[in-house]
Amino acid sequence: MTSNKISVTLSENKKEKQPPDQLQFGTTFTDHMFIMDYTLGEGWHDPRIIPYQPISIDPAAMVFHYGQSVFEGLKAYVNKKEQVLLFRPDENFKRLNKSNDRMCIPHVDEDFALEALKQLVDVDREWVPSAIGTSLYIRPFIISTQSYLGVAPSTKYQFIIILSPVGSYYKEGIAPIRIAVENEYVRAVAGGTGTAKTGGNYAASLKAQQLSGDKGYSQVLWLDGVERKYIEEVGSMNIFFIIDGEVVTPSVNGSILEGVTRKSILQLLRHWNIPVTERRISMEEIKQAYAEGKLEEAFGTGTAAVIAPVGELFWNNEKMLLNGGQTGEISQKLYDTLTGIQTGTLEDPFGWSIEVPNKINTK
Ligand SMILES: *Cc1c(COP(=O)(O)O)cnc(C)c1O
Repeated sequence: MTSNKISVTLSENKKEKQPPDQLQFGTTFTDHMFIMDYTLGEGWHDPRIIPYQPISIDPAAMVFHYGQSVFEGLKAYVNKKEQVLLFRPDENFKRLNKSNDRMCIPHVDEDFALEALKQLVDVDREWVPSAIGTSLYIRPFIISTQSYLGVAPSTKYQFIIILSPVGSYYKEGIAPIRIAVENEYVRAVAGGTGTAKTGGNYAASLKAQQLSGDKGYSQVLWLDGVERKYIEEVGSMNIFFIIDGEVVTPSVNGSILEGVTRKSILQLLRHWNIPVTERRISMEEIKQAYAEGKLEEAFGTGTAAVIAPVGELFWNNEKMLLNGGQTGEISQKLYDTLTGIQTGTLEDPFGWSIEVPNKINTK
């Protein structure tokens, strides 16, 4: 890092904000963005907060051709005292570097990245929506920008953070989703890039997502890429099942993405002394548990939805209706607790929420 000082250029024309009930996920962006450059030999340099704007990149930039890129996703909330809270941002920057390792992208200094994020959110603090269920979605990402058509790690990168106010994932309270198990396409295999948050994983997932959408399902449940037997995760979420009083979730096996929400849910369940196991789970076991009336609940976990209860699971032309298609008791309790901690209405016994100091924008 040649200079740690973040330069700030404020926007002269402030955009209009949408009413909270009209916010759609990932469609509108705030007035500012953070950007810094990497050059081999020089390291990360020129960190700056500037008005939100298009970036100019050479068409030969490597990211367009070979997809060397990583991203993160986290949220900021505003509490009753008008403090802005980030939920476990240190975990996201730790994971960003894990993804960087896998994709041969240089590490960013995690403390500096967090400092940059705090300053950016501070500048745009009036963009953090306060209505119930709303939040400021934060998207840090790194792209390879060297102009070169050879296949090799890039010598130049840009690290960018953009912010998007988002509405409630659920229109009227938490509502179950319908998911279809995918038997043909796979998301990732051990040894591949499934553990990295990289765009290519999503590009590879679109086909199955589209086909299940055509059948009326909102998400795909991925199976392992070798035997198509064991459960991996859902779309952009990790997955949990409750079988006969025990909570189970696929173990970190080299192909699933380790969610921050997954980790938080595991901590909460253990804190409540609810039995929870990370292990291999086959679809056959789920079907069996369902047939025996022991499949009590299922839910996905991820930053966007926090908790997404599964109301219906479709596999091999069979429909499994979970908990009568209603949100289960534990799913609801986890959702209420986690969102309560995130928005500061509940005590935060784990110190997960980090306040954004009010320094730049003294409104
Ligand atoms: C981001 C992501 C998740 C969820 O991670 P969180 O940190 O909980 O948001 C799960 N699966 C995939 C594939 C993801 O990209």
